Amino acid sequence: MTIKLRCSDYGFECDFVLDGRKSMSLLKQFKEHVDSEHGIDYSMEAIIQMVVNKGHARETIRNE
Ligand SMILES: [Zn+2]
Repeated sequence: MTIKLRCSDYGFECDFVLDGRKSMSLLKQFKEHVDSEHGIDYSMEAIIQMVVNKGHARETIRNE
């Protein structure tokens, strides 16, 4: 299962998009982008919650 993470969907004025398997490693890449580009160091838990809030059940996020 894939997911598209658009930075703009999470409140940033930003064109950054990540597209790939719905996995912890993809979420981690998103976390690192938000940290390096926007200076916000979210916890992994906060990132997971943001994705869950967009309608992705937590158990569909692969732990890889
Ligand atoms: Zn961004």
